[in-house]
Amino acid sequence: MSDRLRIALQKKGRLADDSFALLKACGLRFSVRGGSLLVRVKNMPIDLLLVRDDDIASFVSNDAADIGIVGENVLVEEQLTSALDAQIAMKLGFSRCRLCLASPERGSVQSAADLSGTRIATTYPGVTGRFLKERGISAKLVEMKGAVELAPSIGVAESICDLVSTGATLEANGLMAFETILESEAVLIRSARDMSPEKADLFDKLMRRVEGVIKSTD
Ligand code: ATP
Ligand code: ZN
Repeated sequence: MSDRLRIALQKKGRLADDSFALLKACGLRFSVRGGSLLVRVKNMPIDLLLVRDDDIASFVSNDAADIGIVGENVLVEEQLTSALDAQIAMKLGFSRCRLCLASPERGSVQSAADLSGTRIATTYPGVTGRFLKERGISAKLVEMKGAVELAPSIGVAESICDLVSTGATLEANGLMAFETILESEAVLIRSARDMSPEKADLFDKLMRRVEGVIKSTD
């Protein structure tokens, strides 16, 4: 890989703007306008790789990027479902959300105790499966790629396990959260492999700046 530090970031979405703002507050000068997916930082030997959040952890793990910013929910899910060589270097405090179990207000499932023998729709089979195992609950996971909130009303599951920030989406679909199984925020990740001395120095410098920015915005 090049001798420039490569940072994988979400191109567009709930992590993107705060990730860009954090790096700008750290003194990195760049422009993400225009369609380029590899953006050169003008004043430091750093490149930004703009991708979907689902690819960030595996890019860092596979050495396509040195570090990345991703939701803890995505990182933990991938750690549980694929061999991932990436670890949290720092928690960042933005893009906070919870992975929750939720069900229709007057349905057969009202708490975790009711889950045995039922179906749970989720895009997070790893984290949901871990929760069930820890509680000794046997339930069937129905894996969906999106629109999980629809599952109970179309009859494919009795409950769902999905990300919640305000609860408005759940409410709009007649669902209520009854258990939080993971609290998540954006995290800065790095691969477990050693970096070259130059990159390691730059990484340390960047981490100190990130820490300073996070403390000042607390
Ligand atoms: P991409 O196009 O990059 O695949 P996406 O649609 O998968 O984007 P976003 O909806 O932008 O992802 O969410 C990115 C991350 O933001 C989530 O993984 C999570 O960590 C965080 N997040 C914060 N609040 C919410 C929320 N209410 N719903 C979903 N994700 C949230
Ligand atoms: Zn995604």
